Amino acid sequence: KTLFPNTQVTIGPVIEDGFFYDFARKSAFSTEELQAIEKKMKELVKANLPVTRKEMARDEAIEYFESVGEKYKAEIIRDLPESETLTLYTQGDFTDLCRGPHVPNTGHLKVFKLMRTAGAYWRGDSKNEMLQRIYATAWADKKQLKDYLYRLEEAEKRDHRKIGKQLNLFHFQEDSPGIAFWHPKGTAIWREVEDYMRDSNTRYGCTEIRTPLIADISLWQKSGHWDKYAENMFMTSSENRDYALRPMNCPTCVQVFNHHLHSYRDLPIRMAEFGVVHRNEASGSLHGLMRVRSFTQDDGHIFCTESQMEAEVIKMVEQCFEVYRDFGFVDFDVKLALRPDNRIGSDEVWDKSENALANALDNSGVKFSFLPGEGAFYGPKIEFHLKDSIGRSWQCGTIQMDFSMPERLGAIYIDENSDRKVPVMLHRAIVGSLERFIGMLIEHYAGLLPVWLSPVQVVCLGITNKQDEYLHEIHTKLLKNGFKAEIDLSLPTNKGMTILGNTTMSLSGNKGNEILTSISSIWILYFILQ
Ligand code: ZN
Repeated sequence: KTLFPNTQVTIGPVIEDGFFYDFARKSAFSTEELQAIEKKMKELVKANLPVTRKEMARDEAIEYFESVGEKYKAEIIRDLPESETLTLYTQGDFTDLCRGPHVPNTGHLKVFKLMRTAGAYWRGDSKNEMLQRIYATAWADKKQLKDYLYRLEEAEKRDHRKIGKQLNLFHFQEDSPGIAFWHPKGTAIWREVEDYMRDSNTRYGCTEIRTPLIADISLWQKSGHWDKYAENMFMTSSENRDYALRPMNCPTCVQVFNHHLHSYRDLPIRMAEFGVVHRNEASGSLHGLMRVRSFTQDDGHIFCTESQMEAEVIKMVEQCFEVYRDFGFVDFDVKLALRPDNRIGSDEVWDKSENALANALDNSGVKFSFLPGEGAFYGPKIEFHLKDSIGRSWQCGTIQMDFSMPERLGAIYIDENSDRKVPVMLHRAIVGSLERFIGMLIEHYAGLLPVWLSPVQVVCLGITNKQDEYLHEIHTKLLKNGFKAEIDLSLPTNKGMTILGNTTMSLSGNKGNEILTSISSIWILYFILQ
């Protein structure tokens, strides 16, 4: 306001890692102007101005902001309820409308940086005038700011959309918005992830099923998806029947369970499915592989008795940790999301299921924190948040307890007393969406995937064309031994360096070392044979 007196202030909320403020003025702020603003901010910090709080009645506040020429502030206040008492914060000769709290004086605000500008419509409505937004970040100390700027820079370099293109892994096109086209190299990574999970499921006693992607809407009505989720479902019809593409795999999995009458002796029954789901996400929210309209979950459903559920959860927690470590994630947070306000089921059932999950985590020796109110409406859940190599946290797997769906879909078993009983259903996904997980892996490893996940593990290069035949021989042998090997018969200078630079390989991870050892032995073997 001191530098640009004709500019009006509008709104400026806190956002993740910083804040923005929208200003009403015709032209955008230039880089020089941003630097001038940052300099002025530092002066204000140095002045150590006290920040004072004042309550004001609504009408008085409107009058005040109109008298100082801030019509946007007056407009915001006019939309508030008549009875609202407002708080105003003042530093020096500037007063702003804010709920607070604020720091006691400007001297507390030491580490900040103006990041960038953008256009933004007043109140987010494109019919309104365009405002000038300034994004900024603020931290408690210089190291935190430095770390944040490093994360931003790294995140941009590691963007899976960029790397996916460079390494020819996948693409998107307008014909299928938000649904990936997987190229051979991307599919090779996919296959490794899927095969790894399939093998893990087998070792943890989870058998694989495949169920329909399309089902009559009556199934979705029974499962409750029609009521709660219809607007996100893709529809289709044939021979006068209406169908929907599944947004979740659970209801069709229950049909496999229901196909036989089970005794308590059969439980627990564990079924896994690489289930393709479709969700009609808003086109504006789509983001590379991270937010798509079709994805494959490494889904798993366990049907068990109440007395079995704790042991089952312990087993699943163990599997989750094993999987994350094998993929190279060593740092994770576990959270237990508890009952939300809007829920079904009695408090007794919630007590029981929350306790079962908490006990299972305790007995697994896992440190965890609670997320009150964040559970699903049908049951509490355990969330696994993985830290990637640049310190970003990704929510990945979940274990959910569900006392509702088995009952809705008529799942039963016969108990010890020959009575019909509804089983407990546990939903779990470990990598979650394969699309998103592969996106995460690409960013975590900056494209340099561990050898076992790499779509190209070996490239056979000659020095002159005299070795071509020999190269073919090696290449064939590598392929036969299960390596993802390529052959390159072109002979540019510095070729070795060029090609190595283009492979997608690094030597980390447990499985990586194993494969590396076998690759080295093959090379040594060939040197000896020659
Ligand atoms: Zn499920």
